[in-house]
Amino acid sequence: MSRFSRDNSPELWILDFPVAKKKKTKKRASSASRTAVGRKSTNKKKSATRRKVGRATTSKKKPAAKKKSSRSKPTKKSGKKKSGRGHRKKTLPKLPRLDAAEEERIGEILKILIQLYPDPECALHHDNPLQLLVATILSAQCTDERVNMVTPALFRKYRTAAEFAASPPGELEQDIRSTGFFNSKARNIRGACQRIEQQHGGLVPNTIEELVELPGVARKTANVVLGTAFGITAGVVVDTHVTRLSNLLQLTNQKDPVKIEKDLQLRIPRKEWINFSHRLIWHGRKVCIARRPQCGECRLQELCPSRLEE
Ligand code: SF4
Repeated sequence: MSRFSRDNSPELWILDFPVAKKKKTKKRASSASRTAVGRKSTNKKKSATRRKVGRATTSKKKPAAKKKSSRSKPTKKSGKKKSGRGHRKKTLPKLPRLDAAEEERIGEILKILIQLYPDPECALHHDNPLQLLVATILSAQCTDERVNMVTPALFRKYRTAAEFAASPPGELEQDIRSTGFFNSKARNIRGACQRIEQQHGGLVPNTIEELVELPGVARKTANVVLGTAFGITAGVVVDTHVTRLSNLLQLTNQKDPVKIEKDLQLRIPRKEWINFSHRLIWHGRKVCIARRPQCGECRLQELCPSRLEE
């Protein structure tokens, strides 16, 4: 009979597909042959072998399954260990013990820094605490030189916290665009100035607790404003230069600014906190430059454990 003689519907064509037929006939043939040859002998043999094989495979499989399960648990553990290894904390370089010799070394560092930078000034140009606050917010991820290029026109345009707070949307952003991250910086300046206007009568507060409540103001900015604009020693300013140099000089072994500040507060006399960070910033700009520290010309080289040998 032709494949297509029964019906012309495509469903039946699929049913008549020769491969499917072959399989069916094979199975039937094998079962038929079993009956022809003799179920007793062949089947017994085959079933016996099947049983044997079955037993063998089941007996093999079971322990294999057990093995799998027994393995799977440790793998999870070892997986944890692996991830743990990946995230293992790096051991911090050891910090010199704060004994008499170390105090003497730190004293020498301070003395040299005072000689090098007797009258350190804040690199950000400003005339009042509000201007310093705004300039410090702008200096995030930006050079002081760039900020100083932007602020003269900015401070002529916005003279009070109320004027900054009321700046039209998009206008302040354009005014500070070249300092980078201008959207978030504008949002922080507006937010900080609104709060200053509403809660502090338009005057920048002079406590660290109140300053860190302002949008965009963390401990670094608060310490800059308090130390430089108000002359209040509340902490040590920790910026990128202070982080780098205080690690090179082994005054800290931390990378987190808050932890660095704690280490520096322990090692540097309180009366030096404000100027010490200014001096370190200047040294970082002039001599201990990030990409190529001038160790050969550095007055601190005898006291610096990280000096490069020439
Ligand atoms: S000796 Fe070198 S690494 Fe140490 S503070 Fe001076 S320039 Fe920096």
